[in-house]
Amino acid sequence: MGTYALPEATRTVLVKSPQAFREAVKAAKPGDQIVLENGIWLDFDMVVDARGTAQRPIVVAAQDPGSVILSGQSSLRIAGDHVVVSGLVFRDGYTPRAEVISFRRDSKTLAFNSRVTQTVIENYNNPDRSQRDIWVVMYGQNNVFDHNHLSGKLNSGPTMAVRLNTPDSQNNGHVIAHNYFGPRPVFGSNGGETLRIGTSHYSLTNSNTLVENNYFDRCSGEVEIISNKSGSNTYRGNTFFRSRGTLTLRHGNGTLVEGNLFDGDGAPYTGGVRVINADQTVRDNHFVNLTGERFSGALVVMNGVPNSPINRYHQVDGAVIAGNHFTGITAIELGEGSDSERSAVPINSVFENNVVVGTGGVSPFRLHDDMAGISFAGNVAAQLPPTAIAGGFTVNTTPSQPPANVGVAREATGVAWYPKPAMASPFDGGRDIAVAPGPDALSMAMATADDGDRLVLAPGIYSESKIMNVRIGVSIVAAQSRDGQRPIISFERPNLFLLSGNGAVRLSGLTVTGANAPDASGNSFIATTAMAMNGSAGGNHVVELSDMDFVDFDVNRGFSVVEAAKGTFYDRVAVKNSRFSDISGTVFKFDAETDDFGIYSVEYLTIDDGQFERIGGPVASVYRGGRDESTFGPHVWVTDSAFDGVGTRGAAPAMVLHGVQNMAITGNAFANANPIAFTITTGKPKTVVADNTRGAGMAVDMVSTTDVRAAK
Ligand code: CA
Repeated sequence: MGTYALPEATRTVLVKSPQAFREAVKAAKPGDQIVLENGIWLDFDMVVDARGTAQRPIVVAAQDPGSVILSGQSSLRIAGDHVVVSGLVFRDGYTPRAEVISFRRDSKTLAFNSRVTQTVIENYNNPDRSQRDIWVVMYGQNNVFDHNHLSGKLNSGPTMAVRLNTPDSQNNGHVIAHNYFGPRPVFGSNGGETLRIGTSHYSLTNSNTLVENNYFDRCSGEVEIISNKSGSNTYRGNTFFRSRGTLTLRHGNGTLVEGNLFDGDGAPYTGGVRVINADQTVRDNHFVNLTGERFSGALVVMNGVPNSPINRYHQVDGAVIAGNHFTGITAIELGEGSDSERSAVPINSVFENNVVVGTGGVSPFRLHDDMAGISFAGNVAAQLPPTAIAGGFTVNTTPSQPPANVGVAREATGVAWYPKPAMASPFDGGRDIAVAPGPDALSMAMATADDGDRLVLAPGIYSESKIMNVRIGVSIVAAQSRDGQRPIISFERPNLFLLSGNGAVRLSGLTVTGANAPDASGNSFIATTAMAMNGSAGGNHVVELSDMDFVDFDVNRGFSVVEAAKGTFYDRVAVKNSRFSDISGTVFKFDAETDDFGIYSVEYLTIDDGQFERIGGPVASVYRGGRDESTFGPHVWVTDSAFDGVGTRGAAPAMVLHGVQNMAITGNAFANANPIAFTITTGKPKTVVADNTRGAGMAVDMVSTTDVRAAK
């Protein structure tokens, strides 16, 4: 990392307060190094507007890298010329501005020839996940962002962006190198990109940004890991690990994608590169163990829109796809998106000297339209491709080895002094805490629990008089019992668990009664904090229920078991081997988000071996409105479950699934239930409905489908 070392200072000034810092910046001369004292700098509106020289930049550095913490409502703006900022950590707060780090002071005062290095932003999230901000935005020209660590963005907006909104920010020559982009969980709508370069408005302008040797670790916010929306950029030597979606060449022409490693590690929806527009080159990359299909294939070449408006899909023209290795990948989609609007097939393009190995003995090529505009030559495939393109391939079941020198090692990115996140479950790594029955015994035990702990409940009655605010991952399980006695939980408030922060609960072996809940409508055993009430709605939640009994949730109407407040999000609600009886409302209620902006509240709702009896509303209501194609979810998978007497109140459907993108309903027994109401709003949802049985007098179709895609 030698070329990334800080320059020598001619003079060093140690500052201990924002006031002293401001004065030091004002007085700074080329070659000065302003050093921030170690410690926590709260609500620090940090501005470095200064002029150094190429030989003698003005440097702002932490006294010790990683020991200067900017928290609360802090932000950093850089402007001027030849400024370097190094060694800061942003955490425990969020930016009050639109950006955490801006390469400009204001719209007229930009940064040039400046650099941010060795800086960390972690979990610096606006607590309201619908509030949009961007952690790092580059403006100006010839700036460098290198060896930084950006991890855990949860709220709306890309993690990082390059803007081209004035001529001074175009043709910018920026370098984004050796950064660690840590996990970005599924956002649940558009706006979860990790990096965006340009916007559709300026997309026919060249950016000339180099993105080199960065590591993208589980960057899974939406279908675009990177949204390239400008011309003449280079993506070289980066690693994409277990990241959902693709590097998407969404707008703009003449971009080069070279020597990158896309390693899906077999994780769902992992993809490679999606090609749109003119003169894009994708060469010498390695695509391995990528399971994604369609918009998330290992390679996707889109169809365009004839005479496309600037914000739609320009035709692929002059694409060069050469020398790449595809190993163990599920899909190469050619002419993807072909429909009555996207009818312009790729032209003047080549697919040469690539090596293609699919999975399970199946060729990964899928042709959605006429591919005569792509010339196939000199390729090797382990499985015979479709006839229309087979002439450009030699079939060889043991093709040459992929190149070793693609991508970058995780350790070679970010900073050495700040840990990179582990691959842990929210329920791992804690202690077992034994709990005996009694009034409020559970909430008292919960108050002592740390992240990952497991409360082990002896059989008996647990009467809970308080709502438990859960901001960590915690398991609550039944102790082993010789006589089969179970812990029985009752609660006196509208909810028992209210999830915020990183709240996640795993429950197993318990009986829960709603009999003591308030005689009021709209109770829910598990709920999320409404944002307006509390400053830490925060992260993505997880609920796991196994071997659970829920009884007597009918003290009043609209009683649910799990629900989401508007603007909150569950990564996963997973139900196994559990029984639900006498529930007055919707059992799993994820339909508060009704604005039709493509936003939804649960990524995976899975129910396996569930039994539902005497349910007033639907078993599940999931709403994903809007028509954009930015999300893979929601997913609803219901298997080997029994529905008997569901939707008894107002003849509700067995389930209401609006805009669900991936649905499986298999092996279930329906009796005394109305068909599932399934509405297709966008995309091409994947659906499997099979091996279900129905009671006498029920409609023949288990699923009643309404398609509103055409009604634009
Ligand atoms: Ca997007």
